[in-house]
Amino acid sequence: MADDPTSQANYTEIATEHVSFKWTIDFANQKIAGSATHDLRVLKDDIGEVIFDTADLVLDSVEVEGKSSSYEVKPKHPIMGSALHIPLPSGLKSGSLIKATIKYETTKECTALQWLAKEQTQGKSFPYLFSQCQPIYARAMAPVQDSPSVKIKYSAEVTSILPALMSAIRQSPPSDGPAHDGKVIGKDAVTYIYHQPIPIPSYLIAIAAGNVVYRPFPRLPGKEWTCGIWSEPELIEAAYWEFSEDTARFLASAEDIVVPYRFGVYDLLVLPPSFPYGGMENACLTFLTPTLLAGDRTLVDVIAHELTHSWFGNGVTHAHASHFWLNEGWTTYIERLLLQVLHSPAERGFSFIIGNKALKDDLEMYVDRPKYQRLVIEFEKGEDPDDAYSRIPYDKGANLILHLERTLGGLDVFLPYVRDYVSTFMGKSITTQQWKSHLYGYYERNGGAEKIKALDSIDWEAWFYGEGLELPVKMEYDSSLAESAYKLAERWDSSRSVEISKLAFQANDLDAFSSTQKVVFLERLQSYKPLPSSHIEHLASLYKVSSTHNAEIRLRFYQFSLADPSSPAAQKYAAEAADWVIGGGSGMVVGRMKFCRDVFRAVFKVNKDLAINAFQKEKNSFHPIARKLIEKDLKLSS
Ligand SMILES: [Zn+2]
Repeated sequence: MADDPTSQANYTEIATEHVSFKWTIDFANQKIAGSATHDLRVLKDDIGEVIFDTADLVLDSVEVEGKSSSYEVKPKHPIMGSALHIPLPSGLKSGSLIKATIKYETTKECTALQWLAKEQTQGKSFPYLFSQCQPIYARAMAPVQDSPSVKIKYSAEVTSILPALMSAIRQSPPSDGPAHDGKVIGKDAVTYIYHQPIPIPSYLIAIAAGNVVYRPFPRLPGKEWTCGIWSEPELIEAAYWEFSEDTARFLASAEDIVVPYRFGVYDLLVLPPSFPYGGMENACLTFLTPTLLAGDRTLVDVIAHELTHSWFGNGVTHAHASHFWLNEGWTTYIERLLLQVLHSPAERGFSFIIGNKALKDDLEMYVDRPKYQRLVIEFEKGEDPDDAYSRIPYDKGANLILHLERTLGGLDVFLPYVRDYVSTFMGKSITTQQWKSHLYGYYERNGGAEKIKALDSIDWEAWFYGEGLELPVKMEYDSSLAESAYKLAERWDSSRSVEISKLAFQANDLDAFSSTQKVVFLERLQSYKPLPSSHIEHLASLYKVSSTHNAEIRLRFYQFSLADPSSPAAQKYAAEAADWVIGGGSGMVVGRMKFCRDVFRAVFKVNKDLAINAFQKEKNSFHPIARKLIEKDLKLSS
């Protein structure tokens, strides 16, 4: 049986190579109805059946090789969903191809899809639909072998009364033609045709539909690929301005570090606020939270992360949830290397410093579940990978790779290895062990005994399976950009016994700081004993950090001001923070989990009822994944 702990599919016996979706989006009834036709490769002689993962789908009929077939949907496992068993003709030989078509509909319980009412969009005129399939929700959108070990090409015909986007190359109508093929938006049905010719894991299958428009970015000379941006018309100017300068340039720099981009199209889609992540690297079409539209391009570096996934994750893919760090650790490491190339070496160190604070917070969050503090997590069959979702695979992983880079002798000897690693495994799905074997193999061929000795000096056991709050090695980073932020934090710390009227702080103390330096200043303050409430209020009124539009800064202020749950400052700002994440005033929920989960958890420590009431009030506006995890955070479910 296959060893993906989150899937019931028999993908080691028979595996999908291509799937063809024919879907109709039904906004009125909030469902997708249609079919999925799988081209399956038989991998073992005489297998009796194919097993797909499904979750909360209503099945209509199944055909195998064009003939009506029986099928069985097994009882639902709470995490893995319902296995769909389809019997196959006897005598199948390894290597043969077989076609299976499943007609079905999604349901209200679908965890992959979020349906927004028109009021929850920017334009407030049309509904909106978007998917989030990572880690294990593709099965709620379509019957698939929902393991990243299975890499599939796909094609799609999607009929919709609103423009529809998918994580693939648009065949028709053209992206840069008239919106909705010139038909009436919200009324006329148009069929959108997409094709993804490069095999991808199922978690990268994505759809979005709404009143969205496209603007291409200027093409870079000599590049075959194109870049552009999608959003609702109300945001397209702001979104284009925020990302048009940097996206293609970042992608070209990443190509210089790794190998050429092979997906042909790299587009961005700015979603409504309930999108639960900062970004999601769906193939050809990165999904982004609108919280990145800071208006000053200060948060554009998130693009460096998402586009790096084109190689690490979308190209070389983790075999299953236990090896998730191969995607995120590598992506985070390369993202920070890009910052060094694009900005300065100091930016790279600074980014590790910021990452380490988030890493420390998440390691502390799991003190009672030390298994999730590990880099390589041995999940039990049917365990929910979302319970382990944290910054640990990102930052512990990136630190391991940085430690390797330094141990092996720096970038000059490390980057050729990176290219060899990507070229070797491009298009494949691998485990940590396969990654490590290749690493040793590469340095045996390129460096020999000396490099192998260096590799042997690494405490692999501690890096892969170590628990606790510390990294196995004390890491040093370039801290030049952090120093001024640290100094200001120190001044506040040493002024804790001084009366407010005698404090010498000025409103312009932060003027010379970049937005990341402001973040680091507020994070540094959290490393001290909480300041008196009077000082916290003074700081907030001087620096305007509780009203800024930069959500990264505002989050850090709330974390800092709520640190002592029994203080008057915590009482005061808990109400404000709770209101912020449920979109008080703006009518839009700040649904990005990085902000809302952290804030709900912090508010919960100050005042349980306040947190629960705020959440209950806007519960249905949150994405299903965010809702599920916040309910756990607030102890409303286990
Ligand atoms: Zn990522």
